[in-house]
Amino acid sequence: MVWIDQDLCTGDGICEEIAPDVFEGRDDGLWVVKEVDKHFDSTIVFDAGEGEGHGPEGSRGVARVPDSLIDDVIESAEECPGECIMIEPYDERIMSERGV
Ligand code: SF4
Repeated sequence: MVWIDQDLCTGDGICEEIAPDVFEGRDDGLWVVKEVDKHFDSTIVFDAGEGEGHGPEGSRGVARVPDSLIDDVIESAEECPGECIMIEPYDERIMSERGV
């Protein structure tokens, strides 16, 4: 699973260049994580936006990473100049809180 600490994000977009199915630039120039329906049941962007398809940002907005993209996400975290891409083991508790 992965989340971004937006307080540290420099807004360069390197993460999205490496893993565009996991990272997305937000209107304010900071990057957020997402799950896309290509890999999961539905698309959710953890951008603190309103309504369906949006989730909280920061440490409360933790996205699952498809197995096929784990290496790309690790590379993104290694390349991230803000050192703000946080990778965590899969957590069933987080998913049950989301009702998934
Ligand atoms: S690579 Fe890191 S600092 Fe750059 S946009 Fe992505 S999260 Fe932000």
